Amino acid sequence: AAKADGRGVSRFFREEMLAGAQNRKRLEDDLRQALANDEFHLVYQPVVSTSSERVVGYEALLRWVHPTRGAVSPADFIPIAEECGMIEAIGEWVLRTACAEAAQWPDPVRIAVNVSAIQFANPALPAIVTSAIASAGLAASRLELEITESVFLTDDSSSSHMFRALKGIGVRLALDDFGTGYSSLGYLKKAPFDKIKIDQSFVRGAIQAGNRNAAIIRAIVTLAETLGMETTAEGVEQQDEIALIRDLGCSHIQGFVYGRPGRAAEMLALFREQDGAALAVGHRVSRAA
Ligand code: C2E
Ligand code: MG
Ligand code: MG
Ligand code: MG
Repeated sequence: AAKADGRGVSRFFREEMLAGAQNRKRLEDDLRQALANDEFHLVYQPVVSTSSERVVGYEALLRWVHPTRGAVSPADFIPIAEECGMIEAIGEWVLRTACAEAAQWPDPVRIAVNVSAIQFANPALPAIVTSAIASAGLAASRLELEITESVFLTDDSSSSHMFRALKGIGVRLALDDFGTGYSSLGYLKKAPFDKIKIDQSFVRGAIQAGNRNAAIIRAIVTLAETLGMETTAEGVEQQDEIALIRDLGCSHIQGFVYGRPGRAAEMLALFREQDGAALAVGHRVSRAA
């Protein structure tokens, strides 16, 4: 059993790896066609202010409906797009589409767009952002770019140059998935973030007595407030987590408790239903993701 047949074991691993590689190659080929074939769309998830209990913005999330496989998760295809050099074109499409759709929403409502570290390393990014907001007619202050700590892996002077260029345009910057990556506090000192998004792994279980996550969230909030940054708790799923997150001092909540991501037209219809005002709390935006 345990000793098994060495060759058998390695043959098994080779077959598995080959199947994985072939599968990946096929996905990669299909991904190259996806933009031209119009297979992408964006869904939007509400971001709620804990103090006003109103929806103050939405995060755009990319969806790919593959012609035969159906929905493929961005967690699966974004890394492939990053490795094959497709993320630039896809990311630009996301920016332009999100800005154009968000320009239809009531004025103060913000739109958050995820930006890959590879896009962030491209000196053309500020020009692409400027062009996207100008063509959409969207005020720069309504656009928030979400980046992860991985942007700090690239050379220091070019990333600080990029931060300055983006802030110069007037867009907001959010540090996404905080706590899951390298989480050097030096990053917070250097980069002009407007917001820290606390990863959902800290929200998970925070409500349970004796759980350390609540203490971690409180510490992150204290740090963020000291630096003049807002905080969004990600992945809030349960009603009783709302009060806890508010009591821990987070300024914003995003999660299934307030709504799953939905299409832009549905968001617009909801605004219209409510006199063009931002959504009231408790109005569930239940849409298939
Ligand atoms: P993210 O930017 O951290 O986005 C939040 C993810 O958490 C989304 O997953 C969202 O659907 C999910 N989520 C929100 N509320 C809850 C909740 O209450 N419970 C749970 N379990 N999950 C919740 P999604 O849409 O599958 O996206 C996964 C990741 O893919 C994103 O994480 C982001 O890193 C990446 N991604 C998505 N769209 C884009 C894009 O346009 N560009 C880039 N570069 N990355 C993207
Ligand atoms: Mg994000
Ligand atoms: Mg996140
Ligand atoms: Mg994430």
